[in-house]
Amino acid sequence: MRALTVIPGRADSGAVVEMPEPPETDGSVLVRTLAVGVCGTDTEILAGDYGWAPEGEERLIIGHESLGEVLEAPVGSGFSRGDLVAGVVRRPDPVPCLACGAGEWDMCRNGRYTERGIKQRHGFAAERFRIEPGFLVPVDRGLEPLGVLMEPASILAKAWEHIAHIGLRARWAPRTVLVTGAGPIGLLGALMAAQRGLEVHVLARREGVQAEAARAIGATYHTGRVADLPFHPDVVLECTGVPALVMETAQQLAPAGICCLAGVSAGSKRLCTDPGTLERQMVLGNEVLFGAVNANLRHYRAAAEALAKADRAWLARLVTRRERLDEWRAAVTRRPDDIKTVIDFTL
Ligand code: BGC
Repeated sequence: MRALTVIPGRADSGAVVEMPEPPETDGSVLVRTLAVGVCGTDTEILAGDYGWAPEGEERLIIGHESLGEVLEAPVGSGFSRGDLVAGVVRRPDPVPCLACGAGEWDMCRNGRYTERGIKQRHGFAAERFRIEPGFLVPVDRGLEPLGVLMEPASILAKAWEHIAHIGLRARWAPRTVLVTGAGPIGLLGALMAAQRGLEVHVLARREGVQAEAARAIGATYHTGRVADLPFHPDVVLECTGVPALVMETAQQLAPAGICCLAGVSAGSKRLCTDPGTLERQMVLGNEVLFGAVNANLRHYRAAAEALAKADRAWLARLVTRRERLDEWRAAVTRRPDDIKTVIDFTL
């Protein structure tokens, strides 16, 4: 079968190659891939900056944002032929740690987890994949083909769950949310903020389809500097990973505010803000800055609910480009009007 693969650690090694059919050891459910979303993590892996091949193999099949249709599933697995599904990315570490042992692999303590398409396990960007039924989530038929948004939505469902849990530390009635970044993560985060009845602000670099999508869910769109915003948000969802913006948004928080870092930074040693000033503000304001990555089954279920409640036409705005597997280079090359690009295996 054809699959999009890479030699992790080696830039420009991405290639569509023939790979063996997925082994039974990957799981009892066989899935035909319909679509795979492309995200910044895939770009990093293709650039040779991230990612690990399965033990003993040179190439890694990438792709962790999946949508597929079940071809074969054992009786009693909870799935049957024709079901629309998405695969869970992370697998618990073998120890397992306290978190993985409780099904909260997204909070793995020892880092020995594996991830499909990212860390030591083949991903979903292949014509077919196998998967364990316990790591497969049903996707509402009515959502097709937007079910490919399930995995990115699960990341935001986790972020919002953790914001709510942290908020319980004291009496708190958040009103305003600032989302930085208007890519798929930012916009899905903004959608979930709007679904919670919050006043949503999205800040990003430019006008365009991203701004239109943000406004369509009632958000106020800003293109200026964070420090110039005329309010202090109760919640910040930082979805860019740009270090300077992280510091600026943290400084803009309202007292008792919570800032969730959901974008992964490429890393930088330059400090743009005096850490002492930020520290003082955070202590005197009881503020929280926390990171969130990955998602467990609870978050996939919450993501499914959020997507089901959302307006389909709005969700469709997020998938701005579909490319054939052969055109994967075009798929991973960002254009200004891209929100989510998808490799469509049905084309
Ligand atoms: C994925 C997560 C994963 C993270 C780190 C993200 O792109 O959506 O599932 O945990 O990368 O590897």
